[in-house]
Amino acid sequence: MSELINRVTGEEKSLNFLEEIIEESIKKGEKRILTRFPPEPNGYLHIGHAKSICLNFGLARKYGGATNLRFDDTNPVKEDVEYVDSIKEDVHWLGFDWAGEHYASDYFDQLYEWAEELIRKGKAYVDDQTQEEIRQGRGTVTVPGTPSPWRDRSVEENLDLFRRMRAGEFPDGAKVLRAKIDMAHPNMLMRDPIMYRIIHTEHHRTGNKWCIYPMYDYAHGQSDSIEKITHSICTLEFDVHRPLYDWFIQELGIFPSHQYEFARLNLTYTMMSKRKLLQLVQNKVVMGWDDPRMPTICALRRKGYTPESVRAFAERVGVAKRDNVIDLSLLEFCVREDLNKVAERRMAVVNPLKVVITNYPEGKTEQRQCINNPENPDAGTRLVPFSREIYIERDDFMEEPPKKYYRLSPGKEVRLRYAYLIKCEEVIKDGKGEIVELRCTYDPMSGDGSSSDGRKVKGVIHWVSVPHAEKVELRLFDTLFTKEDPDDVEEGKTFIDYLNPNSMIIKTGYLEPSLKEAKVGDKFQFERVGYFCMDKDSTSSLLVFNRTVGLKDSWAKMQGK
Ligand code: ATP
Ligand code: MG
Repeated sequence: MSELINRVTGEEKSLNFLEEIIEESIKKGEKRILTRFPPEPNGYLHIGHAKSICLNFGLARKYGGATNLRFDDTNPVKEDVEYVDSIKEDVHWLGFDWAGEHYASDYFDQLYEWAEELIRKGKAYVDDQTQEEIRQGRGTVTVPGTPSPWRDRSVEENLDLFRRMRAGEFPDGAKVLRAKIDMAHPNMLMRDPIMYRIIHTEHHRTGNKWCIYPMYDYAHGQSDSIEKITHSICTLEFDVHRPLYDWFIQELGIFPSHQYEFARLNLTYTMMSKRKLLQLVQNKVVMGWDDPRMPTICALRRKGYTPESVRAFAERVGVAKRDNVIDLSLLEFCVREDLNKVAERRMAVVNPLKVVITNYPEGKTEQRQCINNPENPDAGTRLVPFSREIYIERDDFMEEPPKKYYRLSPGKEVRLRYAYLIKCEEVIKDGKGEIVELRCTYDPMSGDGSSSDGRKVKGVIHWVSVPHAEKVELRLFDTLFTKEDPDDVEEGKTFIDYLNPNSMIIKTGYLEPSLKEAKVGDKFQFERVGYFCMDKDSTSSLLVFNRTVGLKDSWAKMQGK
Protein backbone atom coordinates (compact mmCIF):
# COMPACT_ATOMS: atom_id res chain seq x y z
CA MET A 1 0.00 0.00 0.00
CA SER A 2 2.83 2.42 0.78
CA GLU A 3 3.96 2.12 -2.80
CA LEU A 4 0.50 3.26 -3.84
CA ILE A 5 0.53 6.18 -1.42
CA ASN A 6 3.75 7.29 -3.01
CA ARG A 7 2.11 7.16 -6.39
CA VAL A 8 -0.82 9.17 -5.11
CA THR A 9 1.38 11.83 -3.66
CA GLY A 10 3.56 11.71 -6.74
CA GLU A 11 6.70 11.00 -4.77
CA GLU A 12 7.65 7.94 -6.76
CA LYS A 13 9.66 9.15 -9.70
CA SER A 14 11.59 6.04 -10.71
CA LEU A 15 10.90 4.34 -14.03
CA ASN A 16 8.37 1.55 -14.17
CA PHE A 17 9.58 -1.77 -15.54
CA LEU A 18 8.14 -1.12 -19.02
CA GLU A 19 9.91 2.23 -19.20
CA GLU A 20 13.09 0.48 -18.20
CA ILE A 21 12.61 -2.07 -20.99
CA ILE A 22 11.95 0.65 -23.54
CA GLU A 23 14.94 2.73 -22.44
CA GLU A 24 17.06 -0.38 -22.73
CA SER A 25 15.87 -1.02 -26.28
CA ILE A 26 16.50 2.62 -27.21
CA LYS A 27 20.03 2.23 -25.90
CA LYS A 28 20.39 -0.82 -28.13
CA GLY A 29 19.45 1.26 -31.15
CA GLU A 30 15.66 1.12 -31.42
CA LYS A 31 14.79 4.30 -33.29
CA ARG A 32 11.06 4.51 -33.06
CA ILE A 33 8.90 2.93 -30.38
CA LEU A 34 5.70 1.57 -31.84
CA THR A 35 3.01 0.17 -29.54
CA ARG A 36 -0.53 -0.91 -30.29
CA PHE A 37 -3.87 -1.14 -28.54
CA PRO A 38 -5.59 -4.30 -29.81
CA PRO A 39 -9.23 -4.55 -28.67
CA GLU A 40 -11.52 -7.26 -29.89
CA PRO A 41 -14.63 -5.45 -31.16
CA ASN A 42 -17.00 -7.63 -29.16
CA GLY A 43 -18.11 -5.12 -26.54
CA TYR A 44 -17.59 -1.66 -25.17
CA LEU A 45 -14.29 -0.67 -23.59
CA HIS A 46 -14.07 -0.57 -19.82
CA ILE A 47 -11.81 1.02 -17.23
CA GLY A 48 -9.35 -1.88 -17.57
CA HIS A 49 -8.99 -1.08 -21.26
CA ALA A 50 -8.55 2.57 -20.32
CA LYS A 51 -5.55 1.51 -18.27
CA SER A 52 -4.14 -0.36 -21.26
CA ILE A 53 -4.83 2.58 -23.61
CA CYS A 54 -3.14 5.08 -21.30
CA LEU A 55 -0.20 2.74 -20.94
CA ASN A 56 0.30 2.00 -24.64
CA PHE A 57 -0.31 5.53 -25.89
CA GLY A 58 1.42 7.06 -22.86
CA LEU A 59 4.64 5.09 -23.34
CA ALA A 60 4.81 5.83 -27.05
CA ARG A 61 4.15 9.51 -26.40
CA LYS A 62 6.80 9.67 -23.70
CA TYR A 63 9.45 8.16 -25.98
CA GLY A 64 8.51 10.04 -29.14
CA GLY A 65 6.94 6.98 -30.78
CA ALA A 66 3.47 6.15 -31.97
CA THR A 67 0.60 3.76 -31.26
CA ASN A 68 -1.62 1.83 -33.63
CA LEU A 69 -5.23 1.01 -32.99
CA ARG A 70 -5.77 -2.54 -34.13
CA PHE A 71 -9.07 -4.31 -34.06
CA ASP A 72 -8.47 -7.92 -33.23
CA ASP A 73 -11.42 -9.06 -35.33
CA THR A 74 -10.64 -12.72 -35.82
CA ASN A 75 -13.89 -14.11 -34.44
CA PRO A 76 -16.80 -13.17 -36.73
CA VAL A 77 -19.41 -14.63 -34.39
CA LYS A 78 -19.21 -12.04 -31.63
CA GLU A 79 -18.03 -8.94 -33.41
CA ASP A 80 -19.84 -5.90 -34.67
CA VAL A 81 -19.33 -2.48 -36.27
CA GLU A 82 -21.20 -0.87 -33.38
CA TYR A 83 -18.32 -1.88 -31.13
CA VAL A 84 -15.67 -0.64 -33.56
CA ASP A 85 -17.26 2.81 -33.58
CA SER A 86 -17.60 2.97 -29.82
CA ILE A 87 -13.98 1.92 -29.32
CA LYS A 88 -12.73 4.70 -31.60
CA GLU A 89 -14.90 7.24 -29.81
CA ASP A 90 -13.63 6.14 -26.41
CA VAL A 91 -9.94 6.21 -27.36
CA HIS A 92 -10.37 9.72 -28.76
CA TRP A 93 -12.29 10.83 -25.72
CA LEU A 94 -9.44 9.67 -23.50
CA GLY A 95 -7.28 12.10 -25.45
CA PHE A 96 -5.30 9.84 -27.75
CA ASP A 97 -4.76 9.66 -31.50
CA TRP A 98 -3.57 6.53 -33.21
CA ALA A 99 -0.96 6.47 -35.94
CA GLY A 100 -2.62 3.67 -37.93
CA GLU A 101 -6.08 2.16 -37.79
CA HIS A 102 -5.74 -1.52 -38.57
CA TYR A 103 -7.79 -4.67 -38.53
CA ALA A 104 -6.42 -8.14 -38.03
CA SER A 105 -8.84 -9.08 -40.83
CA ASP A 106 -6.80 -6.90 -43.21
CA TYR A 107 -4.04 -9.42 -42.73
CA PHE A 108 -6.08 -12.54 -43.50
CA ASP A 109 -4.44 -12.97 -46.92
CA GLN A 110 -0.93 -12.60 -45.53
CA LEU A 111 -1.70 -14.88 -42.57
CA TYR A 112 -3.05 -17.47 -44.97
CA GLU A 113 0.09 -17.36 -47.11
CA TRP A 114 2.23 -17.74 -44.03
CA ALA A 115 0.15 -20.71 -42.95
CA GLU A 116 0.85 -22.39 -46.29
CA GLU A 117 4.51 -21.57 -45.81
CA LEU A 118 4.50 -23.34 -42.44
CA ILE A 119 2.76 -26.32 -44.02
CA ARG A 120 5.43 -26.46 -46.71
CA LYS A 121 8.12 -26.36 -44.03
CA GLY A 122 6.44 -29.29 -42.31
CA LYS A 123 5.51 -27.07 -39.38
CA ALA A 124 1.74 -27.25 -39.67
CA TYR A 125 -0.85 -29.93 -40.45
CA VAL A 126 -4.55 -30.39 -40.94
CA ASP A 127 -6.17 -32.36 -38.13
CA ASP A 128 -9.51 -34.16 -38.56
CA GLN A 129 -10.01 -34.83 -34.88
CA THR A 130 -13.00 -33.38 -33.08
CA GLN A 131 -12.52 -30.53 -30.65
CA GLU A 132 -12.98 -32.98 -27.79
CA GLU A 133 -10.40 -35.40 -29.17
CA ILE A 134 -7.93 -32.59 -29.60
CA ARG A 135 -8.52 -31.42 -26.05
CA GLN A 136 -8.01 -34.90 -24.65
CA GLY A 137 -4.95 -35.51 -26.79
CA ARG A 138 -3.26 -32.46 -25.29
CA GLY A 139 -2.57 -34.39 -22.07
CA THR A 140 -2.17 -32.57 -18.80
CA VAL A 141 0.54 -30.55 -17.13
CA THR A 142 2.03 -33.81 -15.82
CA VAL A 143 1.06 -36.13 -18.68
CA PRO A 144 2.46 -35.52 -22.17
CA GLY A 145 -0.01 -35.29 -25.04
CA THR A 146 -0.70 -37.98 -27.60
CA PRO A 147 0.02 -37.11 -31.23
CA SER A 148 -2.98 -36.86 -33.51
CA PRO A 149 -3.32 -39.74 -36.01
CA TRP A 150 -3.23 -37.01 -38.70
CA ARG A 151 -0.01 -35.42 -37.46
CA ASP A 152 2.21 -36.97 -40.09
CA ARG A 153 0.23 -36.19 -43.19
CA SER A 154 2.35 -35.28 -46.19
CA VAL A 155 2.94 -31.66 -47.12
CA GLU A 156 0.91 -32.18 -50.33
CA GLU A 157 -2.04 -33.64 -48.48
CA ASN A 158 -1.94 -30.88 -45.89
CA LEU A 159 -1.78 -28.19 -48.57
CA ASP A 160 -4.66 -29.77 -50.46
CA LEU A 161 -6.84 -30.11 -47.35
CA PHE A 162 -6.05 -26.62 -46.09
CA ARG A 163 -6.96 -25.13 -49.48
CA ARG A 164 -10.20 -27.08 -49.48
CA MET A 165 -10.90 -25.86 -45.94
CA ARG A 166 -10.54 -22.36 -47.28
CA ALA A 167 -12.71 -23.15 -50.28
CA GLY A 168 -15.56 -24.09 -47.97
CA GLU A 169 -15.67 -27.83 -48.65
CA PHE A 170 -15.98 -28.77 -44.98
CA PRO A 171 -18.51 -27.90 -42.32
CA ASP A 172 -17.68 -26.05 -39.10
CA GLY A 173 -15.54 -28.14 -36.79
CA ALA A 174 -14.65 -30.79 -39.38
CA LYS A 175 -10.98 -29.87 -39.50
CA VAL A 176 -8.45 -27.47 -38.05
CA LEU A 177 -4.96 -26.41 -38.97
CA ARG A 178 -2.46 -27.01 -36.19
CA ALA A 179 1.13 -25.92 -35.71
CA LYS A 180 3.46 -28.92 -35.44
CA ILE A 181 5.57 -28.15 -32.39
CA ASP A 182 5.90 -30.63 -29.53
CA MET A 183 3.13 -32.76 -28.01
CA ALA A 184 5.22 -33.24 -24.86
CA HIS A 185 6.13 -29.59 -24.36
CA PRO A 186 5.91 -28.51 -20.70
CA ASN A 187 3.92 -25.47 -21.86
CA MET A 188 0.55 -26.88 -22.91
CA LEU A 189 0.02 -24.07 -25.41
CA MET A 190 3.00 -25.40 -27.38
CA ARG A 191 1.39 -28.83 -27.84
CA ASP A 192 0.43 -28.32 -31.46
CA PRO A 193 -1.81 -25.29 -31.00
CA ILE A 194 -4.68 -24.67 -33.38
CA MET A 195 -3.96 -21.99 -35.98
CA TYR A 196 -7.19 -22.02 -38.00
CA ARG A 197 -10.73 -23.23 -37.48
CA ILE A 198 -13.68 -23.40 -39.85
CA ILE A 199 -16.47 -20.90 -39.14
CA HIS A 200 -19.08 -20.40 -41.84
CA THR A 201 -20.15 -16.99 -40.60
CA GLU A 202 -20.16 -13.63 -42.32
CA HIS A 203 -17.50 -11.28 -41.00
CA HIS A 204 -18.33 -7.64 -40.37
CA ARG A 205 -15.51 -6.55 -42.67
CA THR A 206 -14.55 -9.42 -44.95
CA GLY A 207 -18.12 -10.58 -45.56
CA ASN A 208 -18.18 -14.13 -46.88
CA LYS A 209 -14.68 -14.15 -48.31
CA TRP A 210 -13.44 -16.42 -45.56
CA CYS A 211 -14.81 -19.46 -43.84
CA ILE A 212 -11.58 -20.22 -41.98
CA TYR A 213 -10.47 -17.84 -39.28
CA PRO A 214 -7.10 -17.62 -37.49
CA MET A 215 -6.86 -18.14 -33.74
CA TYR A 216 -5.66 -15.33 -31.49
CA ASP A 217 -2.22 -16.88 -31.06
CA TYR A 218 -1.63 -17.20 -34.77
CA ALA A 219 -3.03 -13.76 -35.65
CA HIS A 220 -1.74 -11.56 -32.89
CA GLY A 221 2.02 -11.80 -33.11
CA GLN A 222 1.97 -11.84 -36.90
CA SER A 223 -0.20 -8.71 -36.94
CA ASP A 224 2.28 -7.04 -34.59
CA SER A 225 5.07 -8.08 -36.89
CA ILE A 226 3.34 -6.82 -40.05
CA GLU A 227 2.91 -3.42 -38.40
CA LYS A 228 6.49 -3.54 -37.04
CA ILE A 229 5.29 -3.08 -33.47
CA THR A 230 8.36 -2.87 -31.23
CA HIS A 231 6.67 -3.39 -27.86
CA SER A 232 3.55 -5.52 -27.77
CA ILE A 233 2.21 -4.93 -24.28
CA CYS A 234 -0.48 -7.20 -22.92
CA THR A 235 -1.84 -8.46 -19.65
CA LEU A 236 -0.19 -11.05 -17.46
CA GLU A 237 -2.30 -14.04 -18.43
CA PHE A 238 -0.62 -13.94 -21.84
CA ASP A 239 2.84 -14.69 -20.49
CA VAL A 240 2.34 -18.39 -21.21
CA HIS A 241 1.52 -17.45 -24.82
CA ARG A 242 4.84 -15.70 -25.29
CA PRO A 243 6.85 -18.79 -26.38
CA LEU A 244 4.26 -19.41 -29.07
CA TYR A 245 4.27 -15.74 -30.08
CA ASP A 246 8.04 -16.03 -30.53
CA TRP A 247 7.85 -19.42 -32.23
CA PHE A 248 5.66 -18.24 -35.12
CA ILE A 249 7.75 -15.11 -35.68
CA GLN A 250 10.94 -17.15 -35.65
CA GLU A 251 9.68 -19.91 -37.94
CA LEU A 252 8.45 -17.33 -40.44
CA GLY A 253 11.56 -15.18 -40.12
CA ILE A 254 9.55 -11.98 -39.97
CA PHE A 255 9.95 -8.67 -38.10
CA PRO A 256 10.76 -9.54 -34.48
CA SER A 257 8.07 -7.86 -32.39
CA HIS A 258 8.31 -8.66 -28.69
CA GLN A 259 5.63 -9.21 -26.12
CA TYR A 260 5.72 -7.82 -22.58
CA GLU A 261 3.18 -8.42 -19.85
CA PHE A 262 1.82 -6.30 -17.03
CA ALA A 263 -0.83 -7.00 -14.39
CA ARG A 264 -4.37 -6.29 -15.51
CA LEU A 265 -6.36 -3.72 -13.62
CA ASN A 266 -8.84 -5.08 -11.11
CA LEU A 267 -11.12 -2.79 -9.16
CA THR A 268 -13.16 -3.54 -6.07
CA TYR A 269 -16.94 -3.91 -6.62
CA THR A 270 -16.31 -3.99 -10.36
CA MET A 271 -16.68 -6.73 -12.93
CA MET A 272 -14.85 -6.32 -16.20
CA SER A 273 -15.58 -9.38 -18.28
CA LYS A 274 -17.15 -8.20 -21.52
CA ARG A 275 -19.15 -11.39 -21.74
CA LYS A 276 -20.77 -10.77 -18.36
CA LEU A 277 -21.26 -7.07 -19.03
CA LEU A 278 -23.06 -8.00 -22.25
CA GLN A 279 -25.32 -10.24 -20.18
CA LEU A 280 -26.23 -7.29 -17.93
CA VAL A 281 -27.12 -5.25 -21.00
CA GLN A 282 -29.07 -8.02 -22.74
CA ASN A 283 -31.02 -8.90 -19.59
CA LYS A 284 -31.82 -5.22 -19.07
CA VAL A 285 -30.30 -5.27 -15.59
CA VAL A 286 -28.83 -1.91 -16.59
CA MET A 287 -30.05 0.80 -18.99
CA GLY A 288 -27.37 -0.05 -21.56
CA TRP A 289 -23.61 -0.17 -22.06
CA ASP A 290 -23.46 3.45 -20.92
CA ASP A 291 -25.53 2.99 -17.78
CA PRO A 292 -23.55 5.05 -15.24
CA ARG A 293 -23.21 1.99 -13.01
CA MET A 294 -21.27 0.09 -15.68
CA PRO A 295 -17.44 0.09 -15.63
CA THR A 296 -17.35 1.04 -19.32
CA ILE A 297 -15.66 4.20 -20.55
CA CYS A 298 -18.92 5.45 -22.07
CA ALA A 299 -20.64 4.92 -18.71
CA LEU A 300 -17.95 6.82 -16.85
CA ARG A 301 -18.34 9.61 -19.40
CA ARG A 302 -22.11 9.66 -18.93
CA LYS A 303 -21.69 9.63 -15.19
CA GLY A 304 -19.55 12.76 -15.37
CA TYR A 305 -15.99 11.50 -15.36
CA THR A 306 -13.49 13.61 -17.27
CA PRO A 307 -10.76 12.14 -19.51
CA GLU A 308 -8.22 13.90 -17.27
CA SER A 309 -9.50 12.04 -14.22
CA VAL A 310 -9.33 8.65 -15.95
CA ARG A 311 -5.80 9.35 -17.17
CA ALA A 312 -4.77 10.48 -13.69
CA PHE A 313 -6.19 7.26 -12.30
CA ALA A 314 -4.26 5.14 -14.80
CA GLU A 315 -1.11 7.02 -13.89
CA ARG A 316 -1.61 6.56 -10.16
CA VAL A 317 -2.35 2.87 -10.48
CA GLY A 318 1.00 2.48 -12.20
CA VAL A 319 2.14 -0.78 -13.77
CA ALA A 320 2.64 -3.88 -11.75
CA LYS A 321 4.03 -7.30 -12.58
CA ARG A 322 1.79 -9.05 -10.10
CA ASP A 323 -2.00 -9.11 -10.02
CA ASN A 324 -3.58 -6.78 -7.52
CA VAL A 325 -6.92 -5.14 -6.79
CA ILE A 326 -7.26 -1.39 -6.71
CA ASP A 327 -9.77 0.22 -4.39
CA LEU A 328 -12.65 1.85 -6.21
CA SER A 329 -12.26 4.87 -3.97
CA LEU A 330 -9.00 5.72 -5.75
CA LEU A 331 -10.93 6.18 -9.01
CA GLU A 332 -13.43 8.36 -7.17
CA PHE A 333 -10.61 10.32 -5.58
CA CYS A 334 -9.25 11.09 -9.05
CA VAL A 335 -12.51 12.40 -10.47
CA ARG A 336 -13.24 14.41 -7.34
CA GLU A 337 -9.81 15.97 -7.50
CA ASP A 338 -10.30 17.02 -11.11
CA LEU A 339 -13.90 18.19 -10.76
CA ASN A 340 -12.99 20.21 -7.69
CA LYS A 341 -10.74 22.23 -9.99
CA VAL A 342 -12.98 22.50 -13.04
CA ALA A 343 -16.63 22.11 -12.03
CA GLU A 344 -18.65 25.22 -11.32
CA ARG A 345 -20.66 25.35 -8.12
CA ARG A 346 -24.44 25.50 -8.11
CA MET A 347 -27.14 25.10 -5.52
CA ALA A 348 -29.51 22.16 -5.64
CA VAL A 349 -31.74 20.59 -3.03
CA VAL A 350 -32.09 16.81 -3.09
CA ASN A 351 -34.66 16.25 -0.30
CA PRO A 352 -36.69 19.43 -0.28
CA LEU A 353 -38.28 21.00 2.80
CA LYS A 354 -40.14 24.26 2.23
CA VAL A 355 -39.24 27.29 4.33
CA VAL A 356 -41.36 30.47 4.45
CA ILE A 357 -39.52 33.55 5.66
CA THR A 358 -42.41 35.37 7.28
CA ASN A 359 -40.81 38.81 7.63
CA TYR A 360 -39.49 38.86 4.07
CA PRO A 361 -41.70 40.98 1.76
CA GLU A 362 -44.17 39.02 -0.32
CA GLY A 363 -43.56 39.18 -4.05
CA LYS A 364 -40.00 40.48 -3.63
CA THR A 365 -37.11 38.83 -5.49
CA GLU A 366 -33.50 39.82 -5.07
CA GLN A 367 -30.46 38.53 -6.88
CA ARG A 368 -27.69 37.17 -4.70
CA GLN A 369 -24.20 37.08 -6.11
CA CYS A 370 -22.63 33.62 -5.91
CA ILE A 371 -19.08 32.52 -6.66
CA ASN A 372 -18.89 29.97 -9.48
CA ASN A 373 -15.72 28.25 -8.44
CA PRO A 374 -13.62 29.21 -5.43
CA GLU A 375 -10.75 27.15 -6.95
CA ASN A 376 -10.78 29.25 -10.10
CA PRO A 377 -11.35 33.01 -9.87
CA ASP A 378 -11.69 33.21 -13.66
CA ALA A 379 -14.95 31.29 -13.40
CA GLY A 380 -16.53 34.52 -12.08
CA THR A 381 -19.87 34.88 -10.35
CA ARG A 382 -23.55 34.45 -11.12
CA LEU A 383 -26.79 35.82 -9.74
CA VAL A 384 -29.19 33.51 -7.94
CA PRO A 385 -32.72 34.68 -7.09
CA PHE A 386 -33.80 34.76 -3.45
CA SER A 387 -37.40 35.14 -2.28
CA ARG A 388 -39.76 34.64 0.64
CA GLU A 389 -40.14 30.91 0.01
CA ILE A 390 -37.18 28.63 -0.32
CA TYR A 391 -36.38 24.93 -0.26
CA ILE A 392 -33.73 23.65 2.08
CA GLU A 393 -32.44 20.11 2.55
CA ARG A 394 -34.60 18.04 4.92
CA ASP A 395 -31.40 16.85 6.60
CA ASP A 396 -30.50 20.45 7.41
CA PHE A 397 -33.34 20.67 9.93
CA MET A 398 -33.82 18.69 13.13
CA GLU A 399 -36.67 19.20 15.49
CA GLU A 400 -34.73 17.74 18.40
CA PRO A 401 -31.09 18.25 17.50
CA PRO A 402 -28.24 16.56 19.30
CA LYS A 403 -25.43 18.68 20.69
CA LYS A 404 -23.13 20.21 18.10
CA TYR A 405 -25.83 20.20 15.43
CA TYR A 406 -25.14 23.54 13.80
CA ARG A 407 -27.84 23.50 11.18
CA LEU A 408 -31.45 24.60 11.60
CA SER A 409 -33.63 23.65 14.58
CA PRO A 410 -36.50 25.31 16.45
CA GLY A 411 -35.45 28.69 17.87
CA LYS A 412 -31.95 28.38 16.33
CA GLU A 413 -30.28 30.33 13.55
CA VAL A 414 -28.38 29.21 10.50
CA ARG A 415 -26.80 31.04 7.58
CA LEU A 416 -28.19 30.59 4.11
CA ARG A 417 -25.26 30.30 1.74
CA TYR A 418 -24.68 33.64 -0.06
CA ALA A 419 -27.75 35.11 1.73
CA TYR A 420 -29.16 35.80 5.17
CA LEU A 421 -29.33 34.38 8.66
CA ILE A 422 -32.68 32.75 9.29
CA LYS A 423 -34.22 31.59 12.57
CA CYS A 424 -36.76 28.81 12.84
CA GLU A 425 -39.90 30.07 14.56
CA GLU A 426 -42.47 27.40 13.80
CA VAL A 427 -42.67 23.83 12.52
CA ILE A 428 -45.75 22.92 10.44
CA LYS A 429 -46.80 19.27 10.29
CA ASP A 430 -49.45 17.38 8.41
CA GLY A 431 -52.06 15.06 9.92
CA LYS A 432 -49.53 12.22 10.13
CA GLY A 433 -47.04 14.30 12.08
CA GLU A 434 -44.75 14.70 9.08
CA ILE A 435 -42.96 18.05 8.85
CA VAL A 436 -44.18 19.83 5.73
CA GLU A 437 -42.99 23.38 6.20
CA LEU A 438 -40.93 25.65 8.42
CA ARG A 439 -41.77 29.23 9.29
CA CYS A 440 -38.67 31.32 9.79
CA THR A 441 -37.68 34.95 10.21
CA TYR A 442 -34.59 36.49 8.71
CA ASP A 443 -32.15 39.15 9.84
CA PRO A 444 -32.29 41.79 7.07
CA MET A 445 -28.91 43.17 8.19
CA SER A 446 -27.12 39.87 7.64
CA GLY A 447 -27.01 39.83 3.85
CA ASP A 448 -23.32 40.72 3.63
CA GLY A 449 -22.19 37.83 5.79
CA SER A 450 -22.48 39.68 9.10
CA SER A 451 -25.41 39.96 11.52
CA SER A 452 -27.30 42.91 13.02
CA ASP A 453 -25.51 42.67 16.39
CA GLY A 454 -22.32 40.75 15.80
CA ARG A 455 -23.82 37.32 16.61
CA LYS A 456 -21.80 34.40 15.42
CA VAL A 457 -23.60 31.56 13.64
CA LYS A 458 -21.72 28.40 12.77
CA GLY A 459 -23.90 26.51 10.31
CA VAL A 460 -24.24 27.34 6.62
CA ILE A 461 -26.84 25.58 4.47
CA HIS A 462 -27.79 25.79 0.82
CA TRP A 463 -31.19 26.66 -0.58
CA VAL A 464 -33.21 27.21 -3.76
CA SER A 465 -35.94 29.82 -4.20
CA VAL A 466 -39.31 28.08 -4.60
CA PRO A 467 -40.88 30.22 -7.35
CA HIS A 468 -37.67 30.09 -9.40
CA ALA A 469 -36.76 26.46 -8.78
CA GLU A 470 -36.30 24.00 -11.62
CA LYS A 471 -37.50 20.51 -10.87
CA VAL A 472 -34.90 17.81 -11.45
CA GLU A 473 -34.55 14.07 -11.42
CA LEU A 474 -31.39 13.20 -9.53
CA ARG A 475 -29.92 9.76 -10.05
CA LEU A 476 -27.78 8.70 -7.12
CA PHE A 477 -25.56 5.76 -7.91
CA ASP A 478 -23.91 3.19 -5.74
CA THR A 479 -21.84 0.17 -6.75
CA LEU A 480 -23.62 -2.29 -9.03
CA PHE A 481 -22.53 -5.20 -6.84
CA THR A 482 -22.65 -5.68 -3.10
CA LYS A 483 -19.59 -7.89 -3.16
CA GLU A 484 -16.06 -6.55 -3.24
CA ASP A 485 -15.13 -9.19 -5.79
CA PRO A 486 -18.27 -9.95 -7.82
CA ASP A 487 -16.39 -12.60 -9.80
CA ASP A 488 -15.80 -14.63 -6.65
CA VAL A 489 -19.17 -16.34 -6.35
CA GLU A 490 -20.33 -18.95 -3.87
CA GLU A 491 -21.31 -22.36 -5.16
CA GLY A 492 -24.64 -22.41 -6.92
CA LYS A 493 -24.67 -18.64 -7.37
CA THR A 494 -23.75 -16.33 -10.21
CA PHE A 495 -22.65 -12.70 -10.26
CA ILE A 496 -26.33 -11.79 -10.76
CA ASP A 497 -26.96 -12.84 -7.16
CA TYR A 498 -24.71 -10.08 -5.92
CA LEU A 499 -26.43 -7.18 -7.67
CA ASN A 500 -26.99 -4.22 -5.38
CA PRO A 501 -30.75 -3.46 -5.25
CA ASN A 502 -29.92 0.14 -4.30
CA SER A 503 -27.39 0.78 -7.04
CA MET A 504 -29.57 3.59 -8.40
CA ILE A 505 -31.80 5.75 -6.23
CA ILE A 506 -33.92 8.35 -7.97
CA LYS A 507 -34.82 11.57 -6.18
CA THR A 508 -36.86 14.54 -7.27
CA GLY A 509 -35.11 17.71 -6.24
CA TYR A 510 -34.86 21.37 -7.15
CA LEU A 511 -32.17 23.34 -8.89
CA GLU A 512 -31.33 27.00 -8.96
CA PRO A 513 -32.68 28.46 -12.22
CA SER A 514 -29.28 29.02 -13.89
CA LEU A 515 -29.16 25.27 -14.47
CA LYS A 516 -31.95 25.57 -17.04
CA GLU A 517 -29.18 26.62 -19.43
CA ALA A 518 -27.09 23.49 -18.80
CA LYS A 519 -26.32 21.10 -21.64
CA VAL A 520 -26.03 17.34 -21.65
CA GLY A 521 -22.62 16.41 -20.22
CA ASP A 522 -22.16 19.65 -18.26
CA LYS A 523 -20.63 19.03 -14.86
CA PHE A 524 -21.24 20.85 -11.59
CA GLN A 525 -20.62 20.64 -7.93
CA PHE A 526 -23.95 20.94 -6.20
CA GLU A 527 -22.75 22.62 -3.03
CA ARG A 528 -22.67 20.33 -0.02
CA VAL A 529 -24.27 17.53 -2.09
CA GLY A 530 -21.80 16.18 -4.62
CA TYR A 531 -20.66 16.34 -8.23
CA PHE A 532 -23.35 15.96 -10.86
CA CYS A 533 -23.50 15.73 -14.63
CA MET A 534 -26.49 16.44 -16.85
CA ASP A 535 -27.82 13.26 -18.42
CA LYS A 536 -28.97 12.64 -21.99
CA ASP A 537 -32.39 11.57 -20.67
CA SER A 538 -33.14 15.23 -19.83
CA THR A 539 -36.19 16.70 -21.56
CA SER A 540 -37.51 20.25 -21.79
CA SER A 541 -39.92 19.48 -18.97
CA LEU A 542 -37.60 17.50 -16.69
CA LEU A 543 -33.86 17.79 -16.31
CA VAL A 544 -31.98 14.67 -15.26
CA PHE A 545 -28.65 14.78 -13.44
CA ASN A 546 -26.36 11.89 -12.53
CA ARG A 547 -24.32 11.94 -9.40
CA THR A 548 -20.74 11.44 -10.49
CA VAL A 549 -19.36 11.14 -6.99
CA GLY A 550 -20.12 12.44 -3.53
CA LEU A 551 -17.99 15.03 -1.78
CA LYS A 552 -16.65 12.82 0.96
CA ASP A 553 -13.21 11.47 0.22
CA SER A 554 -13.08 7.92 1.48
CA TRP A 555 -9.76 7.33 -0.28
CA ALA A 556 -7.88 10.01 1.65
CA LYS A 557 -9.58 8.79 4.82
CA MET A 558 -8.37 5.25 4.15
CA GLN A 559 -4.85 6.61 3.78
CA GLY A 560 -5.13 8.21 7.21
CA LYS A 561 -5.02 11.76 5.90
P1 ATP B 1 -12.78 -10.03 -22.54
O1 ATP B 1 -11.91 -11.22 -22.26
O2 ATP B 1 -13.71 -9.67 -21.44
O3 ATP B 1 -13.41 -10.07 -23.89
P2 ATP B 1 -10.34 -8.71 -23.10
O4 ATP B 1 -9.59 -8.27 -21.93
O5 ATP B 1 -9.86 -9.92 -23.79
O6 ATP B 1 -11.83 -8.79 -22.62
P3 ATP B 1 -9.67 -7.21 -25.42
O7 ATP B 1 -10.56 -6.40 -26.28
O8 ATP B 1 -9.03 -8.40 -25.99
O9 ATP B 1 -10.51 -7.55 -24.13
O10 ATP B 1 -8.56 -6.27 -24.76
C1 ATP B 1 -7.87 -5.29 -25.45
C2 ATP B 1 -6.64 -4.92 -24.68
O11 ATP B 1 -6.99 -4.40 -23.41
C3 ATP B 1 -5.76 -6.12 -24.44
O12 ATP B 1 -4.43 -5.77 -24.73
C4 ATP B 1 -5.94 -6.44 -22.99
O13 ATP B 1 -4.79 -6.98 -22.44
C5 ATP B 1 -6.26 -5.05 -22.40
N1 ATP B 1 -7.08 -5.18 -21.20
C6 ATP B 1 -8.27 -5.77 -21.11
N2 ATP B 1 -8.71 -5.78 -19.85
C7 ATP B 1 -7.77 -5.15 -19.10
C8 ATP B 1 -7.62 -4.85 -17.71
N3 ATP B 1 -8.54 -5.18 -16.82
N4 ATP B 1 -6.50 -4.20 -17.32
C9 ATP B 1 -5.57 -3.85 -18.22
N5 ATP B 1 -5.64 -4.12 -19.53
C10 ATP B 1 -6.71 -4.76 -19.98
MG1 MG C 1 -9.36 -10.70 -25.57
